[in-house]
Amino acid sequence: MASKLQFLKPADDTYSEDRSDIDQNSGTSFVYNPYRNLSIEKQRQRLPVFTSRNHILYLIEKNQTTIVVGETGSGKSTQIPQYLRESGWTADGIIGIAEPRRVACTTLAERVAEECNVILGKEVGYSIRFDECTTPGVTKIKYMTEGLLVREMMADPLLRQYCAIVLDEVHERTLYTDIVLGLMKKILRKRRDLRLIICSATVDADHLFNFFNTNMSKDSSKDSVAVISVEGRTFAVDVFYLKEPMANYIKGCADTVMKIHCKEGPGDVLVFLTGAEEVDNCVSLLKDFSESLTKKEGSLVVVPMHGSLTNSDQLRAFQSLPPGVRKVVVATNIAETSVTIPGIVYVVDCGFMKLRWYTVASHTDSLVVVPTSQASAIQRAGRAGRTRSGKVYRLYSETEYEKLSKITPPEMVRTNLSSAVLNLMALGIENMLRFDFPSPPPARHLISALDELFALGALTEEGSLTQPLGKQMAELPISPQLAKMLLVSGEFGCSQEILSIVAMLQVQNIFIKKKGQGHAAKIIHRKFEVDEGDLITLLNVFTAYVKKKESKHWCSEHFLNHRALKRASEIRKRMEKLITKFEVPLTSSEGGVDAVCKCITAGMFPNAAYLHHSGSYRTVRGNQDLYIHPSSVLYTQKQPQWVLFHEVLHTSRVLMRDLTTIDPAWLLELAPHFYEKTSLRCE
Ligand code: ADP
Ligand code: MG
Repeated sequence: MASKLQFLKPADDTYSEDRSDIDQNSGTSFVYNPYRNLSIEKQRQRLPVFTSRNHILYLIEKNQTTIVVGETGSGKSTQIPQYLRESGWTADGIIGIAEPRRVACTTLAERVAEECNVILGKEVGYSIRFDECTTPGVTKIKYMTEGLLVREMMADPLLRQYCAIVLDEVHERTLYTDIVLGLMKKILRKRRDLRLIICSATVDADHLFNFFNTNMSKDSSKDSVAVISVEGRTFAVDVFYLKEPMANYIKGCADTVMKIHCKEGPGDVLVFLTGAEEVDNCVSLLKDFSESLTKKEGSLVVVPMHGSLTNSDQLRAFQSLPPGVRKVVVATNIAETSVTIPGIVYVVDCGFMKLRWYTVASHTDSLVVVPTSQASAIQRAGRAGRTRSGKVYRLYSETEYEKLSKITPPEMVRTNLSSAVLNLMALGIENMLRFDFPSPPPARHLISALDELFALGALTEEGSLTQPLGKQMAELPISPQLAKMLLVSGEFGCSQEILSIVAMLQVQNIFIKKKGQGHAAKIIHRKFEVDEGDLITLLNVFTAYVKKKESKHWCSEHFLNHRALKRASEIRKRMEKLITKFEVPLTSSEGGVDAVCKCITAGMFPNAAYLHHSGSYRTVRGNQDLYIHPSSVLYTQKQPQWVLFHEVLHTSRVLMRDLTTIDPAWLLELAPHFYEKTSLRCE
């Protein structure tokens, strides 16, 4: 027990970011508007895209695909749909804008509705998972997530309601960006009137240009792809490398900033590190340094910038300081493309970034720190040359730079593909190996996804979708494992319970840990905790919440996040509708917990782990060592012999989250093809 407490404490501050993704993909909705005091019309005219308005419209008219490159804040996401509307495109259909993040859909739609002076949800609306804010027949500009656009393709494979699709933030190359790119290429061939506009904040457009350029079948006289850059003027950036690699890059970054401050002329500094914790460490090193400065040496203001800061804290990075004061912004990858900080003259680049990688052997995703790509290094450097010539200090040698990969591998080649494969199959793409991906995923990742889908019963032996299970799984906007669990829950006599559990897994931070009240919260939360694990605990919380008539007061008394529970309740209603459509009987186990745990096993069996005599858990597939996450209710209990996890988190160890205690006999009973008897003999 003692050894377990040594490596982590529950509610340890370092783990407050647990649920957030990599910073670039975090749900930040922060927007910096330097012209907020002007009229909307003037604000729109000040944006860099405005000068290219006619050119962009001309290119869209003449080409099926137009790639627009411009840094964050130049007006791509808010203006291009409006330009299209103003020039009459919406007479023939809707303009759909696909975003990687849900929060971007809502904030952009709100902003554009305001700029157009219309009510949100009428001409301008958004559509995200479990939340639709559009009016059929009226909405002309529709912001939606990439995943939702893929779902629309299932209902309408040629996207007939749309006249143009804007694919936004394509530089992020999420899993769904690539799926949409591949599918759009097919659709464009069949619908010559449809337009695709690709927006990117980075300049490496060649790859996508080539991807779409091969689309030109017979009619080669007509150019089908164009690229336009709306970048303002950029200035030269001198690049400096280290002679020797650096052991501790956090300290290296801080030292470099100190050197810049002492030796270089005026100008603000932007430092790139890989995560919030590193940022905070570097900020504290630099604060010590700034306190030691004499008046003559000039003052230094150090501000952190990462996705988990509040909006007002993020705003500090944008404030201009009096002359003679140097600002140092220490940032995660968020400053590479997601936000643009004005006035930067010096960039310090640690040379690393955090990426999610999928390990096929153990079937787990992990966050790892890896060297950046050359594209990313160039992008970071470019942040220095926006107002005048600048300098970038790379904390590695020039030979290291030459060895870096050209571009950052897109998510498609480094993630679990089971959802993606299921979606593509539902769209009629049966031979995944032949699908035209912008960056084809490794064959073994595809095979692993096919294996899992087969085990879940979504695929036939021949590799097509099963009817109705596979088809329905694809239609549910949740992971294949949860979809399976939900669709068979009627047979297990517990669909009411599973609906609540699945809904609760879609929201985050249900348990509130207030500073100074951690102990009180823990005692109250214990009321809901059970030996069966976190999923059943979530069920208990939800059931109690409903029993208390969804009371806000009750939530705050119990240190529960009312907003999260309210959202879970909404999601549950929508999912109940969906499964009713699929004729899943609505049943309840009336308090019986075994049926619920067994049904969870029917979906999550691929994620089984057993307690190894060494004290850690091991996955059955791949023999990966795992530990229970401190946030789990099982963390402080007697460790169960067998568990299922919903997800894992890689820190210095691999931690399992959202656990359910199970009987291993269920694995053999429910997934005999997956777990042969011999593989369950654990030593
Ligand atoms: P891009 O897509 O090129 O990053 P956007 O079109 O999102 O640019 O934003 C352009 C500008 O519009 C921003 O720099 C900001 O000034 C203003 N803006 C965008 N969204 C908002 C918002 N929600 N509130 C206030 N201003 C906004
Ligand atoms: Mg944008």
